[in-house]
Amino acid sequence: MTASPSPAPASLADAVALLEAHDEVVLACHVNPDGDALGSMLALGLALRDRGTRVLASWGSRPFEVPSPYRDLPGLDLLVPADQVPPAPALLVTFDTGSVDRLGALGDRVAAAGDVLVIDHHASNTCFGTLNLVDVTAASTASMVVDLLDALGLPLTRDVAACVYTGLVTDTGSFKYVATTPDVHRLAARLLETGIRHDLISREIWDTASYGYVKALGLACARSVLEPDEVGGLGLVWTAVGVEDLERYGLVLADVEGVIDVLRTAREAEVAVVVKTDPEDGLLKVSTRSKGRVDVGSVCVSLGGGGHRFAAGFTSYEPLGPTMERVRAALADVPHLPA
Ligand code: 5GP
Ligand code: MN
Repeated sequence: MTASPSPAPASLADAVALLEAHDEVVLACHVNPDGDALGSMLALGLALRDRGTRVLASWGSRPFEVPSPYRDLPGLDLLVPADQVPPAPALLVTFDTGSVDRLGALGDRVAAAGDVLVIDHHASNTCFGTLNLVDVTAASTASMVVDLLDALGLPLTRDVAACVYTGLVTDTGSFKYVATTPDVHRLAARLLETGIRHDLISREIWDTASYGYVKALGLACARSVLEPDEVGGLGLVWTAVGVEDLERYGLVLADVEGVIDVLRTAREAEVAVVVKTDPEDGLLKVSTRSKGRVDVGSVCVSLGGGGHRFAAGFTSYEPLGPTMERVRAALADVPHLPA
C-alpha cells in the first residue's frame, strides 16, 4: 500500500478527490452479496462509468452468480468473477463490507491496492481502508453512495436509482426498521421521481421465490426449536438449513436468506438464529436477529463476525451442536437493553 490505513473517518470531499484522481477503479462488495452490497456497488459503478471511468466490480465468494432477486438490476455487465480482478488495483472501493475477511477471495487486494476507499454503515467496521467513509447512522450503504454522487456532481439516473433503491429497500426491510428516518423517505421520493419500477424491485426482493423455497421454508420453520429460558429468559428460537435441504429443493444459499425473516416473527423469542451450511465450503453461516432488547451485533463480533445491532452474523468452523452452544453462552451473558 502506498498510504498507511487511516482509522480517522474520511469526509465526502476526501472521497471525491480520490475518485477524481483515478480513471480506473475496482469495486468489491462482501461475500454472498445482498441487495445493499450489490445495489450500492452497481450504483457507484454505473455513475462512474457514465462519466468515463473504467470500472470492474466483483465479490469474492462462490457461486459467482447474481442472486435471483437482483437479476434485473442495471449494471450487471460491470461484474467480473473474482479471479479476473487485477491483483493490485490502483484504487479499490469496497461496499457494505465491515472487515477484510468479508471480502473473501478479494481480501488480498486490500494490501496490494494503491488506495482503498471503504464505504460502509456497519457499526463493526474495522476501517481497513486508506480512506474510510463509515456512517453507522446511514440506513444503507446505498444511501451513502447517493451522498457521494451528489458530492461528485454526478446525476442520479433511473438506472443508478434502481440500484440505490434495491439497497435501501433491502436494508430498511421495506422502510420498517428503526433506521427509516424522514431523510430515508425523502431519498426514496427522489429515487421514485426518476421513474424506477419500485413495485417490481420490491416484488422480486420480498414477494417472489421458487416453490422449492416455499417447501424449504416450511421445513425449516417446522423443525425450529423455541428455547424460552435462553437469552437470560427473553427466549431464543432457532433452526438450521443443511446442504441436503438445498439439494432436495434445488436451492442455493442465497435463496434461503428470508428464512430468518419468518422465524423472527415468533413473539415468544427475543432472538432468532438460522444456521445455514454453505455448500461451497461446508462452513456454517449463522444469521441472528433481535427485536431490540439485545445487541446481537456485539454478540456476533465476540463470535468472530459482525453486522448491525439487531441484525448480525458470523461464520462457524464447528459443527451445529457446538456452534449453538457458543451462541447460547454468548447470548446468556449479554446485557438487556431497555424495552
Ligand atoms: P445476514 O444474517 O442477513 O447474512 O447478515 C446480517 C448482517 O450481519 C449483515 O449486515 C451482514 O453483513 C452481517 N454478517 C453476516 N454474516 C457475517 C459474518 O460472517 N461476518 C461479519 N463480519 N458480518 C456478517
Ligand atoms: Mn448494508
